[in-house]
Amino acid sequence: MMQIDEICKSIQQSNSPFMENKKKLTTASGRPYAENENTMTVGPRGPILLQDYILHEKMAHFNRERIPERVVHAKGSGAYGTFTVTHDISKYTRAKMFSNIGKQTKMFLRFSTVGGEKGSADTERDPRGFAMKFYTEDGNWDLVGNNTPVFFIKDPKKFGDFIHTQKRDPHTNCKSPTMMWDFWSLNPESLHQVMILMSDRGTPFSYRHMHGFGSHTFSLVNAKNEVVYVKFHFKTAQGIKNFDNASATEMKGNDADWAQRDLVEAIQKGDFPKWNLRIQVMTPEQAKTFRWNPFDLTKVWPHGEFPLIDVGTLELNENPDNYFAHVEQAAFAPAHIVDGIGYSPDKMLQGRLLSYPDAHRYRLGGNYEQIPVNKCPYLVANYQRDGLMAVNGNGGSAPNYFPNSFDDIVVDESYKEPAEQLESSIADWYDRNAPGENDHYTQPGALFNKVMTEAEKQATVSNIVGAMSGISGPKRDLIINRQLCHFFRASIDLGTRVAQGLGVDINAAQEHMATMA
Ligand code: NDP
Repeated sequence: MMQIDEICKSIQQSNSPFMENKKKLTTASGRPYAENENTMTVGPRGPILLQDYILHEKMAHFNRERIPERVVHAKGSGAYGTFTVTHDISKYTRAKMFSNIGKQTKMFLRFSTVGGEKGSADTERDPRGFAMKFYTEDGNWDLVGNNTPVFFIKDPKKFGDFIHTQKRDPHTNCKSPTMMWDFWSLNPESLHQVMILMSDRGTPFSYRHMHGFGSHTFSLVNAKNEVVYVKFHFKTAQGIKNFDNASATEMKGNDADWAQRDLVEAIQKGDFPKWNLRIQVMTPEQAKTFRWNPFDLTKVWPHGEFPLIDVGTLELNENPDNYFAHVEQAAFAPAHIVDGIGYSPDKMLQGRLLSYPDAHRYRLGGNYEQIPVNKCPYLVANYQRDGLMAVNGNGGSAPNYFPNSFDDIVVDESYKEPAEQLESSIADWYDRNAPGENDHYTQPGALFNKVMTEAEKQATVSNIVGAMSGISGPKRDLIINRQLCHFFRASIDLGTRVAQGLGVDINAAQEHMATMA
């Protein structure tokens, strides 16, 4: 019988890094070395020598492992997939990705929650990010959406203030229902998104069981340079499935990474999640007479007037081999459009055109588009050079200025964008009285009164009452009454149920509001 010592020795030898067909352990600069676990000291019990560079390299690199966390959408999951065209929409767009039925385009999708930090729980009540990057031959197209068709605000100037209310109270360092409802009650345009957030769709069962929306209005341009406005909807083929409030809360304690695990495991076992892309189209003429501002991110376009048009299917079929390399370093920007797809005057979109690439330059550096997950797999040719982490050869010996007499880069005039007709020559901040601009209530009212089932209504009211019960402090009654007014304006039924749930005397609340008016 082999002795214990001999058995251990043979196991250790089988792990030897110098065995054939194994890689040698090296420093980052490629120097093979042996002392990975013991630091060089003066004598067996003496102090450490400064010349043990391996120690410095290991500790210094470890200190730099974290990059700035995304200020929103910090907790996320991602996978690669394929988009396949199933219907011809070339009469609306000349984008090559949609050029023929059957055409496939590789893509990457990152899901996320919004307000929590990188270690927060996946089942928090929060909108979910639904950010897509399509690697098309005309460049990468990023559609950076959410699982909801609308958003809390319609002007980007409010974004920083809004997000502060979703993060931690500066004094207590805790999440604060008071801050959240204070902001929402002071910004009635948030009501539509608040209603969706407070329904059970605010706690999706997994990333696979929710829709994705481009949310903003974009435009499409066809081969004749004709423009239409468009909204993108990705409808889950898995069906909508949500946690109720109690199960979502329970899951936070049981498995904070539930949605991450669900996605990875589904793809691992070949159960590839799918979504069907459908679009809504509005002509510029229709946009002029639509009763709401078609570029207002707090509103949808009713399906009855702007029916969904089938386009294709999206399938996620590949887990990234390394989370940090692909998911953490993924950088999406609504500014990244391709020929055949354009922006719109949606103010929130216009704000994000600036702020997303700006955030990536801060978080990942000016050359973030050289990182493999962000890199266009087709030829990229321009005169941008240098900067931190220029890892793509930096243009080699080719000229770094334009025009020049040496290289063969040309400007292709066929990609010229159509001129835009602007409505006004008056620069101003807003027109409060523009038609439909102050109607924050019709669409949330339709959602509650006409779309939700009785069970969904009850869940929504219960979730609102639970969330508003956390409002505290000297302004508690003021905030509650102000928010109740918004619910009543959307739907008397909704306002009554929430008021009853909160134990508010409606008559007293009305008197309170009258004294504030
Ligand atoms: P429709 O009846 O044609 O569409 C209603 C939509 O509401 C469906 O897409 C449905 O989603 C979705 N829905 C159902 N329950 C919820 C919920 N709890 N939270 C969010 N969405 C839900 O009506 P209209 O197009 O005339 O719109 C009526 C209202 O429906 C709108 O005011 C808006 O609040 C909501 N809505 C409209 C959308 C749109 O793009 N028109 C998109 C999403 C919501 P599903 O696909 O699962 O059936």
